[in-house]
Amino acid sequence: MSKYSVSEDGFYGNYWGGDFIPEMLYPNVELLRRNYQQIIDSEDFKKEFNNLLNDYAGRPTPLYYAQRLSEYFNANIFLKREDLVHTGAHKLNNALGQILIAKKLGKTRIIAETGAGQHGVATATVCAKMNMKCVVYMGKVDTQRQHLNVQRMKMLGAEVVPVESGNGTLKDATNEAIRDWINNPQNTFYIIGSVVGPHPYPDMVAKLQSVISQEIKQQFIKQTGKENPDYVIACVGGGSNAAGSFYHFLDNENVKLVAVEAAGLGTESGQTAATIAKGEEGIIHGSRTLLMQDNNGQIVEPYSISAGLDYPGIGPLHTWLSKSGRATILNATDQEALDAAMLCTKLEGIIPALESAHALAALPKIKFNPNDNVVLTVSGRGDKDMETYIKAFSKN
Ligand SMILES: *Cc1c(COP(=O)(O)O)cnc(C)c1O
Repeated sequence: MSKYSVSEDGFYGNYWGGDFIPEMLYPNVELLRRNYQQIIDSEDFKKEFNNLLNDYAGRPTPLYYAQRLSEYFNANIFLKREDLVHTGAHKLNNALGQILIAKKLGKTRIIAETGAGQHGVATATVCAKMNMKCVVYMGKVDTQRQHLNVQRMKMLGAEVVPVESGNGTLKDATNEAIRDWINNPQNTFYIIGSVVGPHPYPDMVAKLQSVISQEIKQQFIKQTGKENPDYVIACVGGGSNAAGSFYHFLDNENVKLVAVEAAGLGTESGQTAATIAKGEEGIIHGSRTLLMQDNNGQIVEPYSISAGLDYPGIGPLHTWLSKSGRATILNATDQEALDAAMLCTKLEGIIPALESAHALAALPKIKFNPNDNVVLTVSGRGDKDMETYIKAFSKN
């Protein structure tokens, strides 16, 4: 077994992760834990999942050699185009996989949490397609900030529940979704949007997103004749697009893995979402990992210009990749991400999501050799961020 895979009881590096959950949630999580691996490995599931990924989501997504970015940074830069997945981001890969698992478990009602709304839209989308009832919990503040995504979810037939408790943001929406699940243990399945939450979610979501690195491997060999890239770079909020991009390279230590967090206004500013840089060990949403907390162990609200990166924790896999030294963890400020988004747009004609712009912002921070082959995952497209971009770029 790999040093980087999850143990039988749900830990990475024998310590990070686990399932620290209230007793009332135990039957739900246990049912999933006992069945998820077998379902994912079954021929039935594989066939249906692959068909949906190909014909519905639009996979495989291109691995695109970005010539002008390559000239600019003096290295061979390939963009993995998750921005071209149906609904505009990698999140649909996971939502499609989980709803198939929910169906196999006989569930009829889906719940989800969402911050920026991307996971909510992905979940509402697969529920429409599969004819399942869908309830999405979203912080009240976020429903106002991301109004368009609320309308998309409603048009797709989901019920969007604005959450007023706490700060009215993602962690509060997550708490509310967990409460719903405890109250509806029989018919309901909770589709979590990243590699976070109690075991087996981090492992299950990583496996569902691992199609990203599976494709990268095949496409990279075909395009370059070489076995592996020198670098794989991705942004991390909870860590699912990074986990998917890294997955099939984890055991090949020649491939440098770079995860990029959102520094917000700077890691020392108190307005940041750089959880690995600034967080401390604790338990959040059932998982032992690093998280942003105050001296009393209360969760500190993270900040980033990018709504998809401001989760106060981080997936336990990424904590382990950081602690074990397997991955390099960088961070990028709001301004660095904005600059990187503009550069990518100008040089390649690709407007990236603000989240993905954080991965692009790592490029000037790494000392590449001219022959280095670099794969960078563009996790989503920038349409949803146009208001933020317009505001930022009209200032200078
Ligand atoms: C949600 C989101 C992210 C962050 O989530 P991860 O689980 O860290 O991948 C990154 N990019 C986009 C486009 C997103 O929608």
